[in-house]
Amino acid sequence: MDRRSILHIGLAAGAAALAPRWAIGQAPAPATDRLGQMRTAGASTPIKTTKLYDNVYLLQGAGGNMAVQTGPQGKVLIDSSFSTAVPKIREALDALSKDPADALINTHWHIDHTDGNDGMHSAGFRIYAHQKTRDRLAVPATMKLFNMTLPAAPSGGLPTITFENALRLWHNDDSLDLVHFDPAHTDTDIYIYFHKADVLHTGDTWFNGTYPFIDEGTGGTIAGMIAATDKALSVAGDGTKIIPGHGPLGTKADLKKSRDMLSSVRDKVAALKSAGASEQEVISKKPTADLDPVWGKGFSPDMFVGIVYRTV
Ligand SMILES: [Zn+2]
Repeated sequence: MDRRSILHIGLAAGAAALAPRWAIGQAPAPATDRLGQMRTAGASTPIKTTKLYDNVYLLQGAGGNMAVQTGPQGKVLIDSSFSTAVPKIREALDALSKDPADALINTHWHIDHTDGNDGMHSAGFRIYAHQKTRDRLAVPATMKLFNMTLPAAPSGGLPTITFENALRLWHNDDSLDLVHFDPAHTDTDIYIYFHKADVLHTGDTWFNGTYPFIDEGTGGTIAGMIAATDKALSVAGDGTKIIPGHGPLGTKADLKKSRDMLSSVRDKVAALKSAGASEQEVISKKPTADLDPVWGKGFSPDMFVGIVYRTV
């Protein structure tokens, strides 16, 4: 999701689990300052590296979860965090191997997954993404929910290899499937599956352990999120290591729990809406009260219920 909206939601909800640590306890900054604050976080947040397979690693810092595959054909990186995190990402990549840069794959257009594109492109990475990711990054974008406008990406940050439905890369003795989801979190979402390593990156179609953000301004819907989760469940096996867009590394069993939560909230909100309740009435009924102790530690339940109501 977008880094500004992470801040916004974190502050609005007191959401310690997902709010950047520098946002906790601070007064909300004017919208014009948030970009600078988030880039400051990108510069200061360490990158944690976790080995998932012989040559596949999870990288976690201030933005969305990243992954890297190393090997003689060059490194493949998934997502690029914030522009200011690029030096730390490059350090983390250099610490793994001396393999050259090769491919950067964007899971979707949101800026906490793509702001580092230009810097990684300068470091030698060619950028792959769904065609709509390029389309959206090429122009200023509005985050409807937060009434925010984001600048267009610099030309070096635009994906140069794009696809509509699916693409398979044969790379470093593995094959990687890049597959588009129907609109879910946004209308640009893809997953990346490493066949041999048995690692799946879902992008932001999965927030492991919390209610998700769904970007209704760029095509996201609750039904799309459920369908995307079903699609990811069909790809994953019991032993697949699944990287969510945000949250800890997970398993198929974890993903299934999220799927059950999403469909439960969808069913409750849809029933109230079809009975004639307004959005505010549904929110005030707290239809997720039984789920909030487990899932409500990140994004605000009220915000999530509102999105579900508007997109169901
Ligand atoms: Zn996102």
